[in-house]
Amino acid sequence: MKLSQENAQVFVPDESVSPFERVTHLGIGAHQDDLEILAYEAIEKCYSNKSKWFGGVTATNGAGSSRTGAYANYSDAEMAAERIREQNKAAYVGDYAFQAQLDFPSNILKDPSDQSCINDLVQIIEASKPEYVYMHNLADKHDTHIALATKCIAALRKSTHKPNKIYGVEVWRDLDWMNDEDKEILAADKRPNLAQTLIGLFDSQITGGKRYDLAIQGRRIANATFYASHESDDTEGMSYAMDLTPLINDESINIVDYTVSYIESFKNDVTNRINKFLE
Ligand SMILES: [Zn+2]
Repeated sequence: MKLSQENAQVFVPDESVSPFERVTHLGIGAHQDDLEILAYEAIEKCYSNKSKWFGGVTATNGAGSSRTGAYANYSDAEMAAERIREQNKAAYVGDYAFQAQLDFPSNILKDPSDQSCINDLVQIIEASKPEYVYMHNLADKHDTHIALATKCIAALRKSTHKPNKIYGVEVWRDLDWMNDEDKEILAADKRPNLAQTLIGLFDSQITGGKRYDLAIQGRRIANATFYASHESDDTEGMSYAMDLTPLINDESINIVDYTVSYIESFKNDVTNRINKFLE
């Protein structure tokens, strides 16, 4: 496999000589730690399971990360190296089949005309042939996440392998606003020790300014509690996703129209609910 960026790397925790072929669940995230937020269901399902394997792909090099406290004086290169190291630690702890770090600067990822990330992703998807893909959803509010999501869809459309299901998962901006019947529910309450350990490994982000460890746990618990169809909490943590599979199976579907259809569905729900109680 020839990845486009000079310092791209593939870490294989168990040193298997065929890390890709065994993959059943593939996660594709923009930054180091996004996989542990958006693909935890997949990571946990594959953990210590010899018939299921999670493959992780991280697209950016982490050089542009914010930094404070102990990391305040890190150069961009030192910060990138630290973030890559943290992501590989998570791959080791989480028993990933492989962890690819594509090493893209954000500006290349955000260039609509640049095909290099799409080509890298096609190679990984065709080598891994995953049944399930976990990626960023199209209503996220982080530009890099959206840029990568569009590259992922292009790669999945181009790839000769079509996964059974593509989940666009919440990271920056949750998906609580989606109508419950439109939501895909991802379990996030199994092995809470593993969930906390994985997110806790990203010390440069947590000590460096944001309590993602608490925020992610809080969001998952809140989702489980406020999910309407549950009369009582029979799960203690869940994440929400948008089903992106139709975009891959039918290339004529416009990506913007598809995403906005969920917003229209939300708008209709709000409108009808208020109208019920007006004279
Ligand atoms: Zn991110």
